[in-house]
Amino acid sequence: MSDEFRNHVAGRWVHAESGATYENRNPAGRDDLIGTFAASGPVDVERAVASARDGYEMWSRIPAPKRGEALKRAGDLLVERKEELADGMTREMGKPLVETRGDVQEAIDTAYYAASEGRRLFSHTAPSELSAKMGFAVLRPAGVFGIVTPWNFPLAVPSWKIFPALVCGNAIVWKPAQDTPWTAVRFVEILVEAGVTPEAVQLVTGFGSEAGEPLVKADGVTGVSFTGSTVVGCHIAGLCGARGRRVSLEMGGKNAQLVLDDADLGLALEGVLWGAFGTTGQRCTATSRLIVQDGVHDELVEALVARAGELRLGDGRRDGTDVGPLINEDAREKVDKYVRIGQNEGAELVLGGGIPDDDDLSRGWFYRPTVFVGVEPDMRIAQEEIFGPVLSVLRVSDFEEGIAVMNGVRYGLSSSIYTADVGRAFQAIERIEAGITYVNGPTIGAEAHFPFGGVKDTGNGHREGGWPVYDFFSDLKTVYVDYSGRLQKAQIDA
Ligand code: NDP
Repeated sequence: MSDEFRNHVAGRWVHAESGATYENRNPAGRDDLIGTFAASGPVDVERAVASARDGYEMWSRIPAPKRGEALKRAGDLLVERKEELADGMTREMGKPLVETRGDVQEAIDTAYYAASEGRRLFSHTAPSELSAKMGFAVLRPAGVFGIVTPWNFPLAVPSWKIFPALVCGNAIVWKPAQDTPWTAVRFVEILVEAGVTPEAVQLVTGFGSEAGEPLVKADGVTGVSFTGSTVVGCHIAGLCGARGRRVSLEMGGKNAQLVLDDADLGLALEGVLWGAFGTTGQRCTATSRLIVQDGVHDELVEALVARAGELRLGDGRRDGTDVGPLINEDAREKVDKYVRIGQNEGAELVLGGGIPDDDDLSRGWFYRPTVFVGVEPDMRIAQEEIFGPVLSVLRVSDFEEGIAVMNGVRYGLSSSIYTADVGRAFQAIERIEAGITYVNGPTIGAEAHFPFGGVKDTGNGHREGGWPVYDFFSDLKTVYVDYSGRLQKAQIDA
């Protein structure tokens, strides 16, 4: 069974102006057609942005607590439809149901947090330097935001942007990843049903070059919130910079878990299995490097290879599946290319490293969980984001070398240290160059009410989640009220 899905523009579900569509298929079985979706172009984007300007006028005038109430209803609808959404998301992008349920839950948590923020949106006040004068700052709605998102968290990542943007009083135009338009359609349906002004939520599905880039460049867009690869993010930043518009970037990672000799090895093993192979390694926070101190290296690697070799590949909607497929053929080719690069660089392949030959996996984009040992810090498999189930193990002699190897990459999203030494843990917190550090936990597992984002080439200083994102989606207005009844001059009148 397949369906035809449309854009949401100017409050209506419409085809792309050109009539163009594209097919979206299940990555676990490519004969399963999920549906056809609008392949949008610049004209669709232009219409969506123009209508979003109207939507902004209407939605921004609704008091923030009332906007929050609509988001609360959206959260309730997500709760009601959690199972249906998780099932469709697994069908669309492959990760096991337990993970897509978590993805929906993160959107629910974000909805409720943002809803309550409608009654806060706090800013600052301070005493004036003059008498009979008051100063304070207020957060004001900013305009229309372009939202550009990846496929690996098809609901959670968009929700981190869209809920805060809306509660702050903005309208959005969303270009979701071409691989996960079904989730996007379902999310927009929920937002409208929950009572968000329909023109404040515009959806244009399709491809990055044909719909995403025109959105970033469109007149009438105030700012862009992007999550995706560093190469695309930096390109978008250039386009935004040339137009003087704000841009929030969440980009790639090369996250490491450092295991010291005194660590609880059982705990470290569970952490790396989940961090490296959850979501088939396709998380921005995935553990793609395991840095192990000499004394426990061999024992941990032996246990890791045994356990990773038992992970069950399969359709994420089937009971017992640990690891789903990669998202598409290009992704699998990229992963396989990196495995060959690792072998040519002299790393030792101790697990996986190929496409499984089982018949029932041949219809999907599966790849065997892969482990390299003997990886040197300057090898490409230790430096570049692979975005698949490939783990590079690096051996270090002590804590100092571990931190140096950890920091010796261009990215800085997530990180983890396993140790029983509290002092070492706090030194690591201080010295690891990353936006997120876990102590005795894997690199993955963000919570909606904490800031999320990275340093170095992972981001441009903004954060999603928690409280800071509301500043990005607001304009800050400073207000002075002089009730002295005379002209008072700041800095001049004592
Ligand atoms: P991409 O950068 O390829 O794509 C992200 C989004 O940008 C997609 O919607 C894509 O459209 C769109 N896009 C592509 N080209 C352009 C363009 N020229 N102008 C405007 N939009 C464009 O990333 P992936 O979807 O492959 O996601 C994987 C990447 O995302 C990884 O690097 C991962 O680390 C990162 N990521 C980062 C996170 C973080 O919070 N730091 C979280 C999740 C992922 P289309 O789908 O059509 O290509």
